Amino acid sequence: APETLSDIVTSFLDVVHDRLVDDRRGAVADYIPQLAEVDPELFGIALCGLNGRVYESGDTDVPFTIQSASKPFVYSLALDDRGLDAVHERVGAEPSGEAFNSVKLEAGTGRPPNPMVNAGAIVTTSLVDGASPERRFERILERLSAFAGRQLSVDEAVFASEQESGDRNRALAYLMRGAGSLTAPVGDTLDTYFRQCSILVTAHDIAVMGATLANGGVNPLTRRRVTSAETCQHVMTIMATCGMYDYAGEWLLRAGLPAKSGVAGGLVASSPGEFGLGLFSPRLDASGASVRAVVAAQRLANRFGLHVLHRP
Ligand code: GLN
Repeated sequence: APETLSDIVTSFLDVVHDRLVDDRRGAVADYIPQLAEVDPELFGIALCGLNGRVYESGDTDVPFTIQSASKPFVYSLALDDRGLDAVHERVGAEPSGEAFNSVKLEAGTGRPPNPMVNAGAIVTTSLVDGASPERRFERILERLSAFAGRQLSVDEAVFASEQESGDRNRALAYLMRGAGSLTAPVGDTLDTYFRQCSILVTAHDIAVMGATLANGGVNPLTRRRVTSAETCQHVMTIMATCGMYDYAGEWLLRAGLPAKSGVAGGLVASSPGEFGLGLFSPRLDASGASVRAVVAAQRLANRFGLHVLHRP
């Protein structure tokens, strides 16, 4: 029987999946007990085209917490609420070359390096409009749900543990309050930040989220506009330069796609004008990104010539 494009893409995802399934390097995040309990063998790869088709291989419908992969999407909301200049008065746009939980703030301004490290993401969360902390989180959940094309929800157990074990993030927030880059109350802001990290998604969902960015802000499944093409350009720029923390430079060299990792093992990447990629596998490397997801995304990018600076 003649092969359809769908068969070809799916079988390529299957090949990448099968080749990497025996790669057991890395370790699952254990800074909170809930994350350490995950089955480390889970592995899913999803690709969402701008026509709304989703191609999948492996565990693409298993929920996990989005963690830091929430940061680009909350940044999009802060940009839409406040504008680029007002947001970047409070948070920089420079790769930090440091880990996700680094304490480095800019001398003079007290700004965190960029919106993708924890400190910067805490600031962008605080810049989301809302009359109350509840309303602010509601708007964040609506925004992420619109990117995913379905109603998302929070893992309450993970949220409770994030609160319990979040002293370093709390310390960062107090430092930024003292330095003037964070003006909102620390308690409410962290509550919202921990909640946004605890939103449940699947590899399928984050592929759609990445595709919505790649599609200039229109969700390819629902056909609804979530944000502007200009905001997507800003978000993907920051993902490309800062999304992979201290691995950001090498990631851009080897994969060449805007991307964001999360400590539960999710990785979202966007190929502008082409598709979104959602990967999930819980074992992490030293920079806190999923080992299998990083290799799989690099293989896909290389195979299809997807590097954003690629010129045929
Ligand atoms: N909730 C985590 C934290 O703030 C998210 C970090 C991450 O995914 N890199 O520590």
